[in-house]
Amino acid sequence: METETNMEEENINPRNKFKSLKDKVSSATLAAIKGMGFKKMTDIQAEVLPEALDGFDVVATAKTGSGKTLAFLIPAVEVVLQCKEKQLEGTFCIIVSPTRELATQTYTVLQDLIAYHENITSALVIGGESRKRQSAELATGVNIVVSTPGRLFDHMRTKEFDYRNVCCLVLDEADKIFQYGFEEDLKQIINRLPKDRQTMLFSATQSERTEALIKSAMKEKVHNINTDEDNLMATVEGLKQGYAVCETEFRLWWLDKLLKKTKNFKVMVFFSSCKSVEFHHEFFIKYCQASVLCIHGKMSQSDRTEVISNFYNAEKVALFCTDLAARGLDIPAVDWIVQFDPPADANEYIHRVGRTARGMGAEGNAVLLLRPDEIEFVNYLKESKIYLDKYESWDKLANLKPKLDAAMSDPQFHQLAVEAFEGYMRAFEVKKLKHIFNLLTMDVDAVARSFGLKERPDVDVRIGFSKKHRPRKRIAAMLADKSTGNKRIK
Ligand code: ADP
Ligand code: MG
Repeated sequence: METETNMEEENINPRNKFKSLKDKVSSATLAAIKGMGFKKMTDIQAEVLPEALDGFDVVATAKTGSGKTLAFLIPAVEVVLQCKEKQLEGTFCIIVSPTRELATQTYTVLQDLIAYHENITSALVIGGESRKRQSAELATGVNIVVSTPGRLFDHMRTKEFDYRNVCCLVLDEADKIFQYGFEEDLKQIINRLPKDRQTMLFSATQSERTEALIKSAMKEKVHNINTDEDNLMATVEGLKQGYAVCETEFRLWWLDKLLKKTKNFKVMVFFSSCKSVEFHHEFFIKYCQASVLCIHGKMSQSDRTEVISNFYNAEKVALFCTDLAARGLDIPAVDWIVQFDPPADANEYIHRVGRTARGMGAEGNAVLLLRPDEIEFVNYLKESKIYLDKYESWDKLANLKPKLDAAMSDPQFHQLAVEAFEGYMRAFEVKKLKHIFNLLTMDVDAVARSFGLKERPDVDVRIGFSKKHRPRKRIAAMLADKSTGNKRIK
């Protein structure tokens, strides 16, 4: 064993050892990294750390699971030490994550990293938990704040939170944070922070929106670091990925078979809406006696926390989830990623499958389920350097009809099916790739049947459209015409 470790150590290029940073990183931080069991920096760490530790603004792009968290936490901790040396007080560093679960995870890694720094304080500031307690914590002037955008902004409007000395801002999963929904909060947050600060953006994917953010929030001299540029594949090598095609109305049958086949594994199944997660979860738990967990944004924070912690610790179980769980989570040993509902685009695909095969040399599996008229998505993914094998379609699927009929006789479950159907359709309305995800050519009756519904529900797809959503409104109107057989719209 001894010799093995020594040999391993000899093989590491000295420049890639964490030790090589000893002039720039405090010994307490280096000791903590050693305690985590890491000697060699990952590629992105080796490239980002020297720049970030010198105080430069950084935009870092690297695949999922490549160790980005430490690439920003180490500089964050060292910045705090410098501020403390200058006898400054208050919050010095803010880290923003798109989801509460990711913020919590980052906060946990931070605790390990500051284990030997007795004077560094930190707080987790996320939605769904007591504002009052957070406010009291912030009022003590915690040094590092790990947060989600909405709640952070709430606190910035109170006098308890003194952020005048913030000199480092980290945006993890930056492209997600800058998406619709967070954008306004983020602009306000950035406007209020001191201009003279270091800003770091991290993600596995960047978007045009990140470009805009870089221009508005960062210094002119930004160090752009991308460890993916020369790669022939957008996903990691250890990932085996494929797609399966299934007739729309047998989708549930397919999922049933998949759950049986993977019952000894740790699996994540992605759905496009909260209601769809709920519907499928309830069906498999109550009527098929399967062991399935679920998580989505409409659950209470305490339930979310409990489920995610159970899933972290589980060896074999399936978690039904929305894209809430797609970003950043570093869950040990996930074997299978199942995309039961298709992702909106290549980026979303990359983040979902990025929950498996994480870390150096790790392996994992992913399968994307498509309806026959969505097969073009495979070619679209190829353009983004994502290559899928075709997995065989199963010909023997158990007949779920009796179970489904039993379930549907419960009026509450029937109502859930209607809402899940609606959620599924709405997810299509907002998808951008209209040539692939086309509501107009979709067999809506078959979709309804896939939720156990005998008839297409009388769902008014135009409900709740505001002026902002004109394209959705147009499609909804066309759909309505189509269902009444109006030939004018083709
Ligand atoms: P990313 O944010 O790039 O998706 P994470 O920061 O979540 O990736 O790290 C992925 C996994 O790699 C984590 O389990 C982490 O503990 C591990 N890891 C991070 N840095 C190293 C390293 N230098 N050597 C080995 N494993 C590492
Ligand atoms: Mg990450």
